[in-house]
Amino acid sequence: MVYDGVKSKIVCTIGPASRSKDTLTKMVDAGMDVARLNLSHEDHKTAKATFEAIRSIDDTLAVLFDLQGPKIRIGEMEAPVNLETGQEFTLSTDEFVGNKDRVSISHEQLPLDVKKGDIIALNDGIVRLTVKTVKGKEVITEVLHGGPISSRKGANIPGIKLSCEVPTPEDIADLDLAAELEPDYVALSFVTCADDVRRLRESMDSKGLERTLIISKIEHTLAIQNFDEILRDSDGVMIARGDLGIEVPLEEVPVLQRDLIRRANVWAKPAIVATHMLESMTGEVVPTRAEVSDVAHAVLDRADAVMLSGETAVGEFPVESVTMMNKIIRRAEQILPKQDPLDVTSPKRMIVEIIGNLTYEAVNLIPDKVEAIVTSTRSGYTARWVSKFRPPVPIFGVTGDVKVARKLRLLWGVHPIPQDQDMENVDALVQATTRAVYERGYISKDKDIVFTSGVKMIPGRTNVVGVFHVHDLVD
Ligand code: PEP
Repeated sequence: MVYDGVKSKIVCTIGPASRSKDTLTKMVDAGMDVARLNLSHEDHKTAKATFEAIRSIDDTLAVLFDLQGPKIRIGEMEAPVNLETGQEFTLSTDEFVGNKDRVSISHEQLPLDVKKGDIIALNDGIVRLTVKTVKGKEVITEVLHGGPISSRKGANIPGIKLSCEVPTPEDIADLDLAAELEPDYVALSFVTCADDVRRLRESMDSKGLERTLIISKIEHTLAIQNFDEILRDSDGVMIARGDLGIEVPLEEVPVLQRDLIRRANVWAKPAIVATHMLESMTGEVVPTRAEVSDVAHAVLDRADAVMLSGETAVGEFPVESVTMMNKIIRRAEQILPKQDPLDVTSPKRMIVEIIGNLTYEAVNLIPDKVEAIVTSTRSGYTARWVSKFRPPVPIFGVTGDVKVARKLRLLWGVHPIPQDQDMENVDALVQATTRAVYERGYISKDKDIVFTSGVKMIPGRTNVVGVFHVHDLVD
């Protein structure tokens, strides 16, 4: 992994278009930091082969397992149909092949979960139904907005808490694969409250995945309402705009995106902006101007990472999509305005946050001399709280643990360097970590670095910040 100077990270969904070693290697070279395996679409055998290919190419690339959650789908249909506005349409929990009047639906409890007047959205919200009556296993609706539907399209019931539990039994089964492979992050779909996250944490812990971090996907109205408690119990969040844009009016999505990123940033939790970022690159080599602006604005909103979905999973131009995203990020970061630390200061003011803030101030007060922040991090905690302040220089996170290095790959501005270090002696630690960065050619002798870490290295105890001249440490 070579440092390319880009600070916002790129998450790529891996699928048929990108799982060959050759394409994965090109995507890493183009700037991919995190590979996402979407378990809605991957069987275990393919996911395992892809996972192993990723690890063999770049051992410090982070891998994110995205659990399906309670995604509702309509069943098979004889043929694609166009539903007419005003017609009656029935959803039934029985198994049968659907047509223009009725289709089966995967959610067994649907007749119990909805009532007259509720909205059911099909096919990414293009088609909207309103519930007229519920009869046994059938939900009879009127089509409010007509449009096309076909086999296995998704269904959403905006604002309704489904009676099934998150994580679902299928998610728990997917965790067995996770336990075997140890991805760095697991994402949970359709989280509605902190209890969902806690249940996932317990399942993961019981399967030996204590060190795998949890990203909660924010895509349900209840997740917006309960965002603070979800954030508290998660290690990061994904603004999953595909489903979110069905749950809330579309014009709310950019406003929520900015607000949720800021709130995640206060607690130094990474925020990923996902879905439709360069959608047209699924079939075209050039994105639309609106898509380019969307990626740039996610960077300016201070997201930690931006995500590619179909573009890299099934698109014709997976490598070009990563290259394009990298270029947009690089340019947008040149105009990223300075952030007032007070705007993102947490109410707790922990020592680690004060150290992060001091690091940021030191970099800004010695603007021409400081070339980088060097942080020695055992659990990744120090690097996270330094990253939170979005300093204008790179943050090199030196860690003796490759699993920590991989997790750092998602954090804004952090470039991990896996290297064993003796963390007992502070002098030796400053020297060894700075040398590790210098030897890779990332800093020059005539510059300064701001060093930060914890002495008496208990993970999570960040308590030191210092300014050093590189020449004094590497000769
Ligand atoms: C989304 O809804 O935006 C999302 C990322 O989730 P999925 O791709 O799993 O539907």
